[in-house]
Amino acid sequence: MPISPGVRDAIRQGSWIRKMFEEGALLKAAKGQDNVFDFSLGNPYGEPPDELAKEILRLASFPPPDLHRYMPNAGFPDVRKTIADSLHRTTGLPFALDHVIMSTGAAGALNVALRAILSPGDEVLVIAPYFVEYLSYIRNAGGIPVVAESAEDFQLDMGAIRAALSDRTKAVILNTPNNPAGAVYPRDALVALDAALAERERRTGAPVYVLSDEPYRKIVYPGFSFFPPAASLRNTLIAYSHSKDLNIPGERIGYLAVSPRAEDAAEVAEACVFCNRVLGFVNAPSLMQRAVAVAQDLAPDLSVYQANRDALVATLSAAGFPVVPPGGAFYLFPRSPSPDEMEFVAAAREENLLVVPGRGFGREGHFRIAYCVSPDTVTRSLPSWERLGRKFFPGHRQGAAR
Ligand code: PLP
Repeated sequence: MPISPGVRDAIRQGSWIRKMFEEGALLKAAKGQDNVFDFSLGNPYGEPPDELAKEILRLASFPPPDLHRYMPNAGFPDVRKTIADSLHRTTGLPFALDHVIMSTGAAGALNVALRAILSPGDEVLVIAPYFVEYLSYIRNAGGIPVVAESAEDFQLDMGAIRAALSDRTKAVILNTPNNPAGAVYPRDALVALDAALAERERRTGAPVYVLSDEPYRKIVYPGFSFFPPAASLRNTLIAYSHSKDLNIPGERIGYLAVSPRAEDAAEVAEACVFCNRVLGFVNAPSLMQRAVAVAQDLAPDLSVYQANRDALVATLSAAGFPVVPPGGAFYLFPRSPSPDEMEFVAAAREENLLVVPGRGFGREGHFRIAYCVSPDTVTRSLPSWERLGRKFFPGHRQGAAR
């Protein structure tokens, strides 16, 4: 066989997000761009903020002498210092530049962190439903993913987490706000998780690292708050990405930050710098490192996401769909009206609605709506959702959402 069996299996299982996105492209070609409501992909809506665009122009027009060259593998020290200062302000922890490694998005950060800490056969806990690429990232580093289900409302289920923790658990991946459910973890949930991890650590004498995947940290709606896991959990490594807060997923820029409270923080950070290099990233894209330095404390405009969320939650609920209103990110993860969500996803496609089946996130019987689309797309899609409601919930008294 020319390719690795593991890679072959991963390709066969495929990413449902990509599959639906590609299916959407075919449907749009057949029916016309405006007649298909594509809720498949987490591509942020809108352009990068002006401050960032101006800084990119300035850097490209008047490049500092080191702009396009090799650099320390961790990234530009002054940029890392800016980020460390910002993390200090938001977490209260004494982050310094040596704790920060610039990365190619959160994806790069997670791969680097896992490669740095895992030995073959180590287990890594993921909370379902999850961002499916975690499974590949863990396997890339020789680890074994172990799944703990979340509660019905997608909050942490401490019973399930305690049952899934073993003497081989090396890390837990935490994602707040969460993709695909939009769950935001309250502080007491993080404190409870810390207690469970501390208990396991006392038993084996070895740390359990928390990989806190935070690309949606700044996308949190009124009534909810983001609590930094690093403030409550000792052995935390933060994976951050500017894909979603600055609308630049194609630019591949983010960072990994090792908590100053983490066990062996300096050694872990050094290992991460080495892995950034030998995994082939070498260093994060240089122009983007410099550009995002001006954007650390910018807040994204959430008005479109919030309006989309409110319109969809109201319409779906009125149509009979059980929906947990998300506290953050830009995804809804309703329960599918038919137990086999593939049947529902096919029916939605008949209405020109493209959504991703829950099995693509490790939880069948649900589907994901990525509402990071134009408000017009959402508004025009509402009659289709109402028709689906009438089809799947014939006994439901359809409420007036609009
Ligand atoms: N983690 C989660 C939960 C995500 O949703 C994504 C992207 O959608 C990533 C990580 C990867 O982020 P990036 O593409 O910015 O590396």
